[in-house]
Amino acid sequence: MKINTKCLHAGYEPDNGEPRVLPIVQSTTFKYESSEAMGKLFDLEANGYFYTRLANPTNDAVAAKIAALEGGVAAVLTSSGQAANFYSIFNIAQAGDHIVSSSAIYGGTFNLFSVTMKKLGIDFTFISPDSTKEEIDAAFKPNTKAVFAETISNPSLTVLDIELFASCAHEHGVPLIVDNTFPTPINCRPFEFGADIVTHSTTKYMDGHATQVGGVIVDSGNFDWTKSDKYPGLTTPDESYHGITYTERFGKGAYITKAVAQLMRDLGSIPSPHNAFLLNLGLETLFLRMERHCSNAMKVAKFLESNENVTWVNFPGLEGNKYYEVAKKYMPNGTCGVISFGVKGGRDAATKFMDSLKLCTIATHVADCRTCVLHPASTTHRQLNAQQLEECGVSEDLIRFSVGIEDVDDIIEDIAQALEKSAK
Ligand SMILES: *Cc1c(COP(=O)(O)O)cnc(C)c1O
Repeated sequence: MKINTKCLHAGYEPDNGEPRVLPIVQSTTFKYESSEAMGKLFDLEANGYFYTRLANPTNDAVAAKIAALEGGVAAVLTSSGQAANFYSIFNIAQAGDHIVSSSAIYGGTFNLFSVTMKKLGIDFTFISPDSTKEEIDAAFKPNTKAVFAETISNPSLTVLDIELFASCAHEHGVPLIVDNTFPTPINCRPFEFGADIVTHSTTKYMDGHATQVGGVIVDSGNFDWTKSDKYPGLTTPDESYHGITYTERFGKGAYITKAVAQLMRDLGSIPSPHNAFLLNLGLETLFLRMERHCSNAMKVAKFLESNENVTWVNFPGLEGNKYYEVAKKYMPNGTCGVISFGVKGGRDAATKFMDSLKLCTIATHVADCRTCVLHPASTTHRQLNAQQLEECGVSEDLIRFSVGIEDVDDIIEDIAQALEKSAK
């Protein structure tokens, strides 16, 4: 199946007389005829469902669909993108370990890494996504367990040189974990360029309708955990799970099985089956929406570039953008629908622009099918002064514009009238 067909059909194949649409199995528990039959499930000796925190048919079907879209061997859904990124690292690192991470990452992820995971004893070194091989190499320590980055960063829109980061990670014997939320597997499949683990906030384009908060972790199955003694959690017996050694018992499925059997068991960040169902509806049209998001964003970016009340435009799909060539290599069919730009006249003009929009809605969200827009300096970053704003790459005039799938003429007309008002 081609990827567009997989959006509709992967993960769920009904048998004769079964529902055509993926059913919502809204049940915490599952019935068995004997305790012995259920015991085998607990010992991971047989496949089957017993408690939804560990596995649920609706959730599993949606995870299998996303694994197929990314070209991975296994996946697990989580209750948010935050949980996905936390688990992706905590599954292979513990107190005393170290992670190399790109500094151009989502603010929530930066807090998770630099504040909360630091409290758990995991240390992070942040490097520029534009680092050379030498600069990446210099960040490694003997206790480094992974490299983390975003394919297209939120909100700064840097594009990752996936092959460079993957080869550096592999030279140091660790996997590359990539948050692929913005391009989605429709526009970029990081496993094809050497990434080992992919995460998503499914809250964004994958859902696309702003109905559920969710996340997913996908394993390529390509990283050999047994090559060194860096990953004892995967390669030596898990005393908390009947002495199972995940790599011996589950081969390419080891990483995801451990994430479920250990982390989901103990931390419990599962999505509800109803949310997985909503996510699946979004996935069915993902390929159609991404195409429209990208073509609309290109037209909006070109319009902004030509407008006298706009001082700068950042969109990796635009010729002349710093990441144009890298984006063309890794995302030849398009990047995503998010653009950032500056309004002439700074903070006041940016606020006036925002307040004058009629169709485009002010919302703390991106990647929705409806166009939404945010002025970080007066909302998410309003406690920061001008200098602090500059330090985190958010200028006072920056507008983060998430282009939806409406008729692009309506979007541009709305922007045009609001820009005119911002200049008065
Ligand atoms: C939104 C986002 C997250 C966090 O996901 P939630 O679903 O909000 O928990 C992580 N990474 C990226 C790139 C995001 O855009």
